[in-house]
Amino acid sequence: MMTTTRESLLRLEQVTRAYGLGERRFIAVQDINLEVFAGEFVALLGPSGCGKSTLLRMITGLIAPTEGAIYYRGERVRGVNRYATMVFQSFALYPWLSVRDNVALALEARGTPSDERNSRAEKLIDLVGMDGFESAYPRELSGGMRQKVGFARALAVEPELLCLDEPFSALDVLSAEALRGELMELWTGGQLPIKAVLMVSHNIEEAIMMADRIIVMGTQPGHIVTEFAVQLPHPRRRKDVAFEALVDRIYGTIAGHTEPEATEIGTAPGTPGPTRLLPDSSVPALAGMLEHINQGRGRHDLYKLDEELGVEMDVLLQTVEMAEMLGFAQVASGDIQITPLGQTFAEASILTRKEIFASRVRRLPMIQWVMNMLSVAPDHVLPWKVFHTALSLEFPADMAEQQLDVAIGWGRYAELIDYDDRDETLSLDPSQGRAMASA
Ligand code: ADP
Ligand code: MG
Repeated sequence: MMTTTRESLLRLEQVTRAYGLGERRFIAVQDINLEVFAGEFVALLGPSGCGKSTLLRMITGLIAPTEGAIYYRGERVRGVNRYATMVFQSFALYPWLSVRDNVALALEARGTPSDERNSRAEKLIDLVGMDGFESAYPRELSGGMRQKVGFARALAVEPELLCLDEPFSALDVLSAEALRGELMELWTGGQLPIKAVLMVSHNIEEAIMMADRIIVMGTQPGHIVTEFAVQLPHPRRRKDVAFEALVDRIYGTIAGHTEPEATEIGTAPGTPGPTRLLPDSSVPALAGMLEHINQGRGRHDLYKLDEELGVEMDVLLQTVEMAEMLGFAQVASGDIQITPLGQTFAEASILTRKEIFASRVRRLPMIQWVMNMLSVAPDHVLPWKVFHTALSLEFPADMAEQQLDVAIGWGRYAELIDYDDRDETLSLDPSQGRAMASA
């Protein structure tokens, strides 16, 4: 949506919020500066725990900043911000009230006369596409339908600023996709009685799909890393080159914050220092584990994970190590915690996953060593035996073979290395040959 003058609605100045006192004092977000203008759809994007919900709670006035100030239309927000309402991840509808009464209740709270409430409620129910379900009860509705009622209820108070806290994350993939599309149609069609949207998300593609501006947040303590303007026309399509390029840029920004130290990944074979063994796991195992962790709170007890995933602990630990080595997860005191990069990987399309994986794998000394050998070989091809012999100087023969298998498996998925099992040769993936030749 376009506005000719930039009408400022919301402004945060040096906002910091701490929880707890004394030794338990914990800074959730620090020094946040942010402005939202009329006509904008702004997304706050960041990993769980970076303080997104905390920011929304302050903006809607449910809690106050510890330091700094929040202004709405130039007026300091104290107590509830009557210009803003929130739609939560799972909207708490009253189970004993019908759809109509759930929405009408919000109108009552706002002081709408009783004779108007039902007809107003019905209009809103119609607007969100729930026509015909006025008399249904929440338990009779799917998650997506409940969330639509949640939207209708939030819209009933005619907020200027609609705050959405991961409103699609409790829905299945298809319902979420449908509801996003419907919301965008209403928003871009100017049919919603609101002036701006501020949506919290931890999903890059969702943010790019919907927002005009994406504010990327980081953790410890929560802060703003950078922001991106999204200038693609609606309706947006994930497969567009410009869309994918933006996904790459944003995950690149997030990845830049989780670079593991070079020492953690060892040295290349044949050079001083220990060569860190590649854990014996695969991309499907990695993806499965990260998806599982990401569906929970992003943090998991390691000892429960083997059962949940139906694999033996020793097999699982190889996958955990793979995730750690690539910067997708961190392990501390029996817990595995997914990193922002791991979260991005878990939620990305197949193409983006390949790119993320490639950008991480090519940093591993073992993979670099294979690629360097190939890049100087005639036609970028070398017999498998050459690598095996070289590795056998450092590892026992069976381990050399296993390491080579893993390197080939990862390298193939990343489209860095190719293997031909008829003549048992390794080669640089054609795309790599081109990239290196033109570099
Ligand atoms: P996000 O929505 O980005 O996941 P939150 O705003 O919910 O992040 O939380 C940010 C940090 O503040 C987290 O570490 C969380 O544990 C902590 N936190 C949130 N609410 C409270 C609270 N009421 N008391 C103490 N700590 C809290
Ligand atoms: Mg949250």
